[in-house]
This record gives sequence, structure tokens and C-alpha cells, in this order.
Amino acid sequence: MSGEHTLADAVVEEFASRLRGRLVRPGDSGYESARELWNGMIDRRPALMARCGGDEDVVAAVDFARDNGMLVAVRGGGHGVAGHAVCDGGLVIDLSGMRGVDVDPEGRRAVAQGGCTLGDVDRETQRHGLATPLGVVTATGIAGLTLSGGMGWLRRKHGLSCDNLLSARVVTADGRLLVASESQNQDLFWAIRGGGGNFGVVTSFEYRLHPIGPEVFFCFVFYPAARAKEVLRSCERYLSQRPDDFAPIGILGKVPETGDFPPEAHGQGYIALLAPYPGDPAEGERLLRSLREIADPIRDLSGTMPYTEAQAILDEDYPDGWRYYWKSMNVPELSDELIERLAEHAATAPSPQNTIDVWYQGGAMARVGEQETAFANRNAPYLLGIEGNWQEAAHSAKNLAWVREAFTDVGSFSSGGVYLNFPGFLEEGKQLLHEGYGRNYERLTEVKARYDPTNLFRLNANVPPKPSNS
Ligand code: FAD
Repeated sequence: MSGEHTLADAVVEEFASRLRGRLVRPGDSGYESARELWNGMIDRRPALMARCGGDEDVVAAVDFARDNGMLVAVRGGGHGVAGHAVCDGGLVIDLSGMRGVDVDPEGRRAVAQGGCTLGDVDRETQRHGLATPLGVVTATGIAGLTLSGGMGWLRRKHGLSCDNLLSARVVTADGRLLVASESQNQDLFWAIRGGGGNFGVVTSFEYRLHPIGPEVFFCFVFYPAARAKEVLRSCERYLSQRPDDFAPIGILGKVPETGDFPPEAHGQGYIALLAPYPGDPAEGERLLRSLREIADPIRDLSGTMPYTEAQAILDEDYPDGWRYYWKSMNVPELSDELIERLAEHAATAPSPQNTIDVWYQGGAMARVGEQETAFANRNAPYLLGIEGNWQEAAHSAKNLAWVREAFTDVGSFSSGGVYLNFPGFLEEGKQLLHEGYGRNYERLTEVKARYDPTNLFRLNANVPPKPSNS
């Protein structure tokens, strides 16, 4: 199976005629924009892009790729950090036009098509004062996010996105359209909750919903980076008393040169603490006050706002087409030495938009057993995200080097385990897969052998099918 492919025109035309959506080829109008991803580091030229209009188009595309031995990329929201949603040569199965959301407010469930963004789902569910746990930037696709976990502001109260999945419709490599749930194709349901895009193309996700909003209190306070230890410790103390309410991220970065911040602070190191309180806003404001009074803040942008606005609070920090390189690792504790090293790396970042993020884990996400779903590494209390975010191609080498250097330098503090939604370019290969899938790796290879024995879906954190004789 290869990316380079020559197909007779008649064969391609026949495929195009099977689609309700559009088949896009090099030279067609829209080809250049359809192959663009959020991450401007990725520049690949597919032979065909099937812009699917519904489940039957996905079935047709899977059949076509398999029968013609084509390399397959699957695109949901196009925000995969590693950029595997397009390929050179090969066929892109593009769900980005499939963005319907159907909410059942009484049953507290929503079905969202595989091309939805987080914003699409929040918008429809918030009409009913409901939400499912998703991520923290609205343009991110629910597909990639959910299939590899899904960590957002509700992770400590209601778990990961994949923990709130009730069922999914999956087109498998043999072209069947299956339902995966606790009662149907249970092994597939287990595998797609953390095992990524290895097992088929998910055309829709059914989520459990929870009451939230419509308004929430959002804590968003910036302190000088010199106070990082105090700030991160205070947060730890708060969480030890109220484990489930609040799922903060501590961000180390440099103060942007915008009107939101006093000019004398521009370019200085900061530690920001942010997250919404998922209950009554007045109660949230009262409970979180202590975290906003740890020291003199550089700026406190906290306030009560609609939940949909809270979900979008970081949106403008991640423009489409910039260059990105993100890596992650779990750590068991925030020692003084680790915090010092993180602050040093943040201070030497070559791009002012680079950050080092400390995700407080635990709560509901840690109450699901490590082997109950394919998502591993649930018990680590902290996830470090090292984010390279820059605009110019000329600055790529130094930003890639900065992320790698910081990642290697703090590696000795890790308990093992990475988050496969922040995987760099998956360049560590097998080692990364073992770190990412942990004790679930072996079982994933067995499920892979059952649903995708020829590894049709391999542009992902790829689980090889277990050989039948082993
Ligand atoms: P795509 O690039 O479309 O897909 C990524 C991969 O997922 C594909 O290569 C394919 O293997 C698979 N895939 C996509 N669609 C399907 C499908 N329908 N069926 C089967 N496989 C499919 N993660 C978090 O957990 N929390 C966050 O808060 C968070 N914030 C983020 C913010 C930004 C700005 C970005 C860019 C990423 C963020 N992430 C976050 C990481 C995000 O979860 C992953 O990048 C995820 O892969 C994005 O999914 P997508 O559908 O947009 O990506």
C-alpha cells in the first residue's frame, strides 16, 4: 500500500459518482485550501480528497481506498498536532463537512457527527444548559480529541471526553458501519476510547451531557513567573480540599505585548492560573478568591461569562496556519527543582507565544480504571505540555529545538506516560506508543487485528495488528 498511486480516470469518476459530497483532486478548485491543516508545519499533497456528506460517503471512501490499495488519512477537525489528517498521494477521508449535532435534552445525550468542532457541540448543547466534557479551544475537532482521550475544563468533575461517550458509529476497514457501545461491539467501544483513529472512521459520537452554565465564573489570573512555586502549590492545596470542582491549567509564558497587560510587564515571565468553576458563578467567585490573591497579579482577567465564552477564552492564541510542535509527559509531583527548570525553559523560549502548561489531572478522570477504557495514564496527577507556537518558517528550527530540549531536560522528572493528543510528530515511534498506551497496548493490538488486520488506518499513533500466530 503506498502513497504514490495511478488510478484510471474512469475508476476515479465512478468513485466520485458514488459520493453525495465532493471528490477533490489536484488542480480542482478548492484543492489547495482543502489540504491545509491548522498546523502550518504540514504541507502534503493527497491524490484524492473525499469530502464526505454522510455515513454512506465514508463507507464508499473506505471501500475505494481498500480495494485500490491506497494510503488513507482521516480528517475530523484538522487540528491534530501531528498533522496526519492529510497524506502525500493517497486518499483523505474528510469529514469536516459533517457537522450536525442532535441534542436530546430530556435524555441528556447528544449525537455529533465526526467533523464537528468543540464549538459546534457546545453551541447546540448550551441551548439546553448542558455540556459534555471537551477541550479548551473551540476549533478543535471532537473526533481526534475524543478518540485519544479529551481533556478539558470538566475533566475533574465529569471525566474525559471518551469517558462520556455512550456510543459511536464506526466504519471499519471492511466497509461495515458498526455501532460501538457497552452493549454492541464492546471490544471496539473499549478501543476507541483512547486508542485513537486505529480502528475505523467514526462518523458520529453519542455523548452524555451534564448541566452546566449558561454562565460560569472563570478564574484567569497572571502572576510574575518568580511566584510560580507559590502559585502552583496553592492550587495543589486548593484541589486537595475540593478535588472535583476545578480543573486548572498553570501556564508559564511571557506577557504578550497587548493592551490587556501593563506596558511595563510586556515580555516578562508569567505564571497564569486558569479554569472555569463548573457550578454556581457566585459560589465559584467566592471559592476561587484565594487563588486570585496569592500575590500581586500582573493582571486578573477573571470574571463571570457564558460557558461558551469560557470555552473560547484561549481561541485567539492558536491561529490557523501558524506553526506548532507540542509534546507532553506525565509527572508524579511538582518538586521545587522541576518548577525552577520549567520556569527557566519558559524564560528562554524563542517565540513569545511558546508556553509550558501544567494540567492538574485527577478527580473523575482518575476514578475510571486504567484498563476500563483504552486511555492509559489516568492516575498521574500532572501532565506537562510543552508548546512551541510560532508564525514564521524561518523560526522553525529554533522552536523545535527549544521544545525538544525542554522535553529532554525535564524527562527525568517523569513517571512515564505521555498524552497522545500532544504527541509532537510521533517521532519516537514505538517508545511513544508504549508510553501513550501503557498497559493497554497489547489488548489494542488484538482489537486492531480483529477490525483492521491489514492496517488500513495507520496514519495515527499506530497500533500494529497482532500477528495471528502469536
Ligand atoms: P484531525 O487532525 O482531523 O485528526 C487527528 C487524527 O485523529 C487523524 O489523523 C486521525 O487519525 C484521527 N481522526 C480524526 N477524525 C477521525 C474520525 N472521524 N474517525 C477516526 N479517526 C479520526 N486536546 C485535549 O485533550 N484537550 C485540549 O484542550 C486540547 N486543546 C487543543 C487546542 C488546539 C488549538 C489544538 C490544535 C489541539 C488541542 N488538543 C487538545 C489536541 C487535540 O485533541 C488533537 O490535536 C486532536 O487530534 C484534534 O482532533 P481533530 O479531529 O481536530 O484532528
